[in-house]
Amino acid sequence: MSEVRNVIIIGSGPTGYTAAVYAARASLNPLVFEGSVTAGGALMNTTEVENFPGFRDGIMGPALMDEMRAQAERFGAELVPDDVVEVDLTGDVKVVKTATDTYEARSVILATGSGYRKLGLPREEELSGRGVSWCATCDGFFFREQAIAVIGGGDSAVEEATFLTRFGSKVYLIHRRDELRASKIMQERAFADPKLEMVWNSEITSINGDDRLESLTLRDTVTGEERQLDVTGLFIAIGHDPRSELLTGQVDLDDDGYVLVDHPSTATNLTGVFAAGDLVDHHYRQAITAAGTGCAAALDAERYIASLD
Ligand code: FAD
Repeated sequence: MSEVRNVIIIGSGPTGYTAAVYAARASLNPLVFEGSVTAGGALMNTTEVENFPGFRDGIMGPALMDEMRAQAERFGAELVPDDVVEVDLTGDVKVVKTATDTYEARSVILATGSGYRKLGLPREEELSGRGVSWCATCDGFFFREQAIAVIGGGDSAVEEATFLTRFGSKVYLIHRRDELRASKIMQERAFADPKLEMVWNSEITSINGDDRLESLTLRDTVTGEERQLDVTGLFIAIGHDPRSELLTGQVDLDDDGYVLVDHPSTATNLTGVFAAGDLVDHHYRQAITAAGTGCAAALDAERYIASLD
């Protein structure tokens, strides 16, 4: 076990790296656990990011994350490419464990994000950023005057589909049953939209295309018949799960597993423990909002540490 650090940051997406930049520039010598597989977070799996301010021509997701990482390192953040496997955040000194080591800190910033649910079909990963997307706000603009499909049946699927009619020549909303789970008002708006067509009783059995998405194979859940749907965009809206397994029994979570914070601060129910980004937010879910709350978490941690001295 080494010395008690000022701040440990768990997570290396826009939230974690932004918190690291601020904490490092405040001379708190943050230690950042980046995760062993997906250091850099969700944007490592995408291509062009056009809505992060400061890059007028857009920037590739991995390049943006490289910049954030380098910026955090430049100011002295210590980066560890490891997974945190266990935490004890309840005491004044917080304990954070990897598979091989134990670390201690006066404060912890939780920034482990959330994961979009996947269909689990071949080509889904390969065509991510090449027609397959999980975020209409992020990617809708790329599909102007193209045929787009959305899969899902809840509020967010209907909201994404309705939003995408601004861009697409046609938007198909694919659902495996013959009625939606979404609220009545959202359904009425969707059904009234001339560009939106419901594809009932259908599931996707195959995502097709070499370099880019070209079509989907759909199976009728009642008759078993298969057919081809030509689309160049597929938005998967079947939900997302916060990465909060580590935290169960430690910080307060909502019913869906997102960390509860004392808005507008990033304070959790545990003193000295702060949480930010997609681990908290299931509403905006953007790189810039994640970065913004990562900044807030570092400022909250800084003030907390100052209050101890
Ligand atoms: P994440 O980016 O998910 O990062 C969480 C990090 O925590 C990961 O690095 C993970 O490895 C790490 N981690 C998790 N558990 C542990 C652990 N136990 N120990 C150590 N580390 C751990 N937003 C936009 O604004 N514009 C876009 O164009 C855009 N495009 C997107 C495209 C795709 C394909 C996806 C999936 C998302 C996109 N988003 C976009 C959304 C954006 O990526 C997220 O809102 C943002 O990345 C959330 O940041 P975060 O830091 O909270 O979480």
